[in-house]
Amino acid sequence: LSELKGKHVTVAGLGVSGVPAAKVLHGLGAHVTVVNDGADERARAQAADLEALGITVRLGDGDTLPEGTELIVTAPGWKPDKPLFAAAGQAGVPVWGDVELAWRLRGPGAAPWLAVTGTNGKTTTVQMLASILRAAGLRTAAVGNIGVSLLDAVTGEEEYDVLAVELSSYQLHWAPSLRAHSAAVLNLAPDHLDWHGSMEAYAADKGRIYEGNRVACVYNVADKATEDLVREADVEEGCRAIGFTLGTPAPSQLGVVDGILVDRAFVEDRHKNAQELAEVSDVNPPAPHNIANALAAAALARAFGVSAAAVRDGLRSFTPDAHRIAHVADVDGVAYIDDSKATNTHAAEASLAAYESIVWIAGGLAKGATFDELVARAAKRLRGAVLIGADRALIREALARHAPEVPVVDLDRTDTGAMLQAVQEAQRLARPGDTVLLAPACASMDMFTNYNKRGDAFAEAVRELGA
Ligand code: ADP
Repeated sequence: LSELKGKHVTVAGLGVSGVPAAKVLHGLGAHVTVVNDGADERARAQAADLEALGITVRLGDGDTLPEGTELIVTAPGWKPDKPLFAAAGQAGVPVWGDVELAWRLRGPGAAPWLAVTGTNGKTTTVQMLASILRAAGLRTAAVGNIGVSLLDAVTGEEEYDVLAVELSSYQLHWAPSLRAHSAAVLNLAPDHLDWHGSMEAYAADKGRIYEGNRVACVYNVADKATEDLVREADVEEGCRAIGFTLGTPAPSQLGVVDGILVDRAFVEDRHKNAQELAEVSDVNPPAPHNIANALAAAALARAFGVSAAAVRDGLRSFTPDAHRIAHVADVDGVAYIDDSKATNTHAAEASLAAYESIVWIAGGLAKGATFDELVARAAKRLRGAVLIGADRALIREALARHAPEVPVVDLDRTDTGAMLQAVQEAQRLARPGDTVLLAPACASMDMFTNYNKRGDAFAEAVRELGA
């Protein structure tokens, strides 16, 4: 990208996206200055690494626009209302995110992108998609807001036929010229509103993923907001709107008929009006929300021309990441399920809908969420609830309002040992045939480093029960 040579580029933020971006830009001959809010030990180490290459780093001031800046490349997490961006706006300096940079650095004839966003299910769907594409014999990787960085995939040695790209709402906000082959918005529920400012702004950023799509805009029939985004998008001529549904599909939709995933959008045989893809039992785990993820992945793969057999093989060989409805063990006829990744109410609602008689372990940091709707919908399925973490009172109150008969154990402790006690309490409440489900509907950082650690603590506690 010769236009970057000799340009004064400011990289906003060190860290997982900033450091590689600074290196790539420097390698292209740009004059790079990195600005970073913090100046802790990790930042100083990263700065030293970059300075050794001849890159300027300014620690402890991420708000002042360096003199002469012609372009900002920002870490996706930086909020649009930061003074740095106001200054950039006034000076007419464009702002690119890491995705925009990767998009612009693609070589001629580069692999097209099949892109996925949504409030929940992104990682799972992108991995399912990569698995399907691989089963079709295509060279691919799951990249983006997950595993391999987009920048690496685009600038590295490895060659790809197509990329399965996970994009967060932050990344989309800063990616104005991205044009995917096809894209899916899985669902839209309030999340990260503190960053985007409003639900409208959040939805608009998610909707950017459809802009300029060439073949298909994939939407969720059950979530009208996603269909609205397709309607508002400016796409290439001939690009189709493709719906996915857990019900019987209409034409131009993928759906489910008698336990079979069926495609009525991309039908190869002109004498048929539907193509069978796979059985529901090929989806792992076959919970409703996950079947929706599989349908979205299948829709994108089919838009790329992948065969029905490859969809089936790819779904069969897919194994979900840890802490996403992971079956930990059965103890005394009770199943213990770790869905620690359910860090918001929308995700927890999906996993609660997947089981019949549940002892629910929930709580943590609510991030401003309310629990009335979630609890009202799940009430009939709850055998009991065990509440942990800082904001558990919010869930307790919602339970009192919408599920007054459900026994609740309120654990007034936030030390890490609380998880063992929570699991023991859940065991007392459970009957054979029940499911003990960790689906906290909250972030974990009040008690654990992250959701992985929370799930690990749960699994550890379950193993102690069984021992
Ligand atoms: P993301 O990458 O969007 O965070 P993941 O695939 O990691 O999504 O799943 C996160 C959590 O969201 C899962 O643990 C599950 O509880 C829930 N989830 C997954 N898919 C869906 C879906 N389609 N709708 C609602 N919730 C979902």
